[in-house]
Order: sequence, then structure tokens, then C-alpha cells
Amino acid sequence: MTDHKILILPGDGIGPEVMAETQRVMSWFADHRNFSFETTSHLVGGASYDAHGVPITEEAMEEAARADAILFGAVGGERWETVPYEQRPEAALLRLRKELDLFANLRPALVQAPLADASSLKRELVEGLDILILRELTGGVYFGTPRGIEDLGGGKKRGVNTHAYTSDEIRRAAEMAFDLARLREARLCSVEKRNVMEAGALWHEEVVKLHAEKYTDVALSHMLADNCAMQLVRAPKQFDVILTDNLFGDILSDIAAQLTGSLGMLPSASLGQRRKNGTRPALYEPVHGSAPDIAGRDAANPLAMILSFAMALRYSFERPDDAALLEEAVERVLADGLRTADIARGGKSERLVSCSEMGSAVIDALKALAL
Ligand code: NAD
Repeated sequence: MTDHKILILPGDGIGPEVMAETQRVMSWFADHRNFSFETTSHLVGGASYDAHGVPITEEAMEEAARADAILFGAVGGERWETVPYEQRPEAALLRLRKELDLFANLRPALVQAPLADASSLKRELVEGLDILILRELTGGVYFGTPRGIEDLGGGKKRGVNTHAYTSDEIRRAAEMAFDLARLREARLCSVEKRNVMEAGALWHEEVVKLHAEKYTDVALSHMLADNCAMQLVRAPKQFDVILTDNLFGDILSDIAAQLTGSLGMLPSASLGQRRKNGTRPALYEPVHGSAPDIAGRDAANPLAMILSFAMALRYSFERPDDAALLEEAVERVLADGLRTADIARGGKSERLVSCSEMGSAVIDALKALAL
């Protein structure tokens, strides 16, 4: 039996609180599902800056490079807003993404039936929604050069960014999206703006080529990004997997997140290239931040972090049954009416619980389901 190496980076604010509940869930899988792992834990973000003067230490970076999966809580807070940019808490996350070359950001948008009313869209449009957005994370306009602000003289300036993609960057993201689609309903929608952007035309060309080469079993469609934004709020259930670039992915994944209506419920994964031993660098984190307004009160919703661990079970540890079991446990807890404050709507069947009570409820549900 292999021991998986997991790096735990709890971070700031509610990060340590939601991570503690996730670690209890992980222990349950160790005790009852034969999931053998070893963990190392490091400070990250503001907590690391306070202790070591940097948002992530070299030692933590070395552990990150060795880890089979990184579980990341959240970083940031007002206290560190005056710290120089490169030492800010968020710089830790950017460094991890860059040095581990985490080029694919996976954001599922799933609407659990008991929470369908939390969406700003009508229940029938979102109930049962289950889509996955793959956003290319290390290329495109956020990284392209030249970039900067030029002085044109006479008090005028010009801001420049460059949207550029190479064939290789497109292909490795598309390859991952096709592979993921195969694990789901085998439908992939590739999104760009080839009508007005050359990088979009190349994106389309490479995806079509790759599809013909090795993924003809996946149903491939294409959509312009502006139409995709509209379709996501008009009829979101038409999608299975959406593949898109860094810029459009940033926007479309936030629209998809809003369809679910609750930040405290949204997990994410950022994956890199497979290593020679078959594992790949992978960072799992909730979409939400450190929520300083509720930190230290045992009030945070730990489900986004717990569901991020479910993603790790699926994408890093190849344990789809355990991932599904954990997702079902979360669904059961919600169906039983348990709510942290962020997802409470004041319904009669609801029971308001703390962060740690929610963690306990998930473990109870796991026990019941595994009987
Ligand atoms: P946030 O996500 O921390 O909070 C937004 C709102 O949602 C707050 O009212 C918060 O209480 C609530 N919320 C968020 N997660 C919740 C949860 N799990 N349970 C219950 N309620 C929850 O965003 P923000 O307030 O804009 O940012 C706060 C800090 O977090 C900032 O320093 C920001 O830079 C940082 N941040 C970090 C990350 C990250 O670590 N990946 C992401 C976003 C923001």
C-alpha cells in the first residue's frame, strides 16, 4: 500500500478552521477506507510572513514540489495590506502556481438540490446542475509580454497587455479537459473568441486537431466566450465540461460560481503536468478567501474545503468511489437541513450549526453511508 504525501497549508483567517474539519474527514478515510497518507503542515500567507518574514518558506516550497497533493486553506487579511507586494499573503499562492506549473484550474459548479434556492437563478434552471470549468491558468493575457504602461507624453499614457498562446499551452490544457470529460458525460465545449482574436483561432484549430487525433469518443462543441457567458445564465445545464483560456475562464468560472449561490460550498483544483512516476503536482483549495469578518468564531462553512479534498481523492488519488462517498455525505447533511450561517435561509427545516458541528455531521453521514 502506498503512502500518499499530502502537504497541508491552512493559512489565515478561517483557513485553519476549515482545514481542521477537513483533516478530521481525512482521518476518517484513513481509519475506515484504507486511505493511507502522511501529512506535513506549514504556515502560509500572513501567518508565514509573521513567523518567517516571507509568505511561504523555501522548506514549504520543497515539500510542495514533493507532495502528491497540497491542501490549501485561504490566505490574506487587512493586517498584511501594507506589506510589500511580493511579500503579501497572496504571493504564496502565485508562487506555488508558477513554480509547480499548475496550468489547469478546475472549478466544478454543482448545485445540491437542498441549496437550489440559494442561487439567484430560478430553481428549475439550476437544480441538479453539475458542470466543470477548466481554465488555463499559466498563459494568456495575464502573463503575455509586452506589457506595461507607456508614457505617450502630453499627459497621455498607453496600457498594454498581450494575449498569447502557443500550440503546446493549448494542447496540454485541452488534453486534460478531454480526459476529464471522459470521466463525466464525455461532452466538451471549447470557448474562445476566434471571430476577433488570432489566439482564439489557434485555440480552436488546436482543439479540433487534438479531438480528431485521439478524442473522437468525446462530443466536442465550440462557443464564443460572450455567448457562453449568456448561455451560463440562460440554460447552464446544457454544459458538461467547459474548456477555456485564462482570461475568459476567470470570468466564466465566477459566473458559474454565482449559479450555485454560495461561496462556502465551492471547491477547486489546480493541476500540473504528470511527473515521471505518474503523479502530478496538484493544489486543492476552496474558492473563498480567509473571511476575516467571521474568523475565530467557529462559524465558517467547511464544506468547500472538504469538497476540495473530495476532488483530491478523485484527481490525485484515483479514488472516485471515495470522492463520490464524500460528496454524497455532504449532500445528505444538507438534505437533513444542517446549515452554517452563510447558507442558512431561515427555513423551518433548517438547523444552524457551527464549523465544527458541520465537520462532525459530515463524518456521521460518512459512517451511516459506509454501513
Ligand atoms: P472572502 O471569500 O474571504 O469573503 C467574502 C464573504 O464571504 C465574507 O463575508 C465571508 O464571511 C464570506 N465567506 C467566505 N467564505 C466563507 C465560508 N467558508 N463560510 C462562511 N462564509 C464565508 O473574500 P474577501 O472578503 O473579499 O477577502 C478576504 C481576504 O481573503 C482578503 O485578504 C483576500 O485577499 C483574501 N482572499 C484569499 C483567497 C485565497 O486564499 N485563495 C481568495 C479570495 C480572497
